[in-house]
Amino acid sequence: MTSIKTFVKQSILQAVETLGFNALYRYINRRKLLCLCYHSVISDDAPLDNRTNIAVTVSQFDAQMQELRKHWNPIGYQSITQLTADEPLPDNAVFISFDDGWRNNLTLAAPILAKYGIPATVFLTTDYIGTTGQLFWALEILERLIAMQDKPLPIGGQSFPLGPPESPLRTRIAEVLLSRIKQFPVPDRQTVLTQMREITNLNLSPKWKQELYEFLSWNEVRELKRQGWTIGCHTKTHPILSMLSAEEQRTELQEAKAKIEAELGETCSTLAYPNGGADDYNEETVRIAAELGFQTAFTLENKRNDLPLNDLLRIHRICITRDLTLNSFRAIISGIRGK
Ligand SMILES: [Zn+2]
Repeated sequence: MTSIKTFVKQSILQAVETLGFNALYRYINRRKLLCLCYHSVISDDAPLDNRTNIAVTVSQFDAQMQELRKHWNPIGYQSITQLTADEPLPDNAVFISFDDGWRNNLTLAAPILAKYGIPATVFLTTDYIGTTGQLFWALEILERLIAMQDKPLPIGGQSFPLGPPESPLRTRIAEVLLSRIKQFPVPDRQTVLTQMREITNLNLSPKWKQELYEFLSWNEVRELKRQGWTIGCHTKTHPILSMLSAEEQRTELQEAKAKIEAELGETCSTLAYPNGGADDYNEETVRIAAELGFQTAFTLENKRNDLPLNDLLRIHRICITRDLTLNSFRAIISGIRGK
């Protein structure tokens, strides 16, 4: 059933492309700024599940960058800041960014970007940069939920049976539970994680997990900078900022910015809000970002931006994930369909 539905959907998208609708929508939306957000690029043979869907494969990324090089005008971070100084952007400008600071950005994404001459920006979660063997908290929760022996998990007063470890249903349930746990206050989230650590053992040896879970070192960040990447801030520990007090938010932004500046010897003027949804940051966040000297800040609200940009601290990006076929990618970036 699903495969017939997918087939029909793909056929329609194929027809739409053949009829030149992508070109038409690109033309209609040419004076809007398109910003894309990636996280990871991983090997083609990595299994597809809810953990790897946040990534794209090497082949996908290559095909997507080829598409951007052919039909779009990739721009670097400097072009966005110069925009305020009345430098117009080219039609169909597209800005490429990566969140969190994964090593695969250097090892797998950077060579493809270099091949097409496409500039990029990476937003670092500074407490994780340069660490080894430390799992990103959201991914650790996900991995432990997937690895947990089949005991019903008490969440919010109810018990949920999870199914066998590593089963597709388990990874799906784990993703839903993670989205719930993300909304917990930090100390409660820590308690859940501590309890899960006591009852689970992780197997992180598969190559795809190492590709997906290892962070950049500071030397590798400097290498990206040498290759022309812009280095931005993504907080210290990747909290949902709207759940923190103003003081806690300030610490997250200020200390991360200072760390990047100390490591790179240059001012860090751009920020991406963790998780990036409209509810994941608030007015206070924007005010603090401005006070700390961030010139620009990026959301993940899956929208394109009208030009001229009227709010540099709320520049929207669209999240690109592995489940998108090349036709879906084209339809989303040209604006035929939403994300
Ligand atoms: Zn992030």
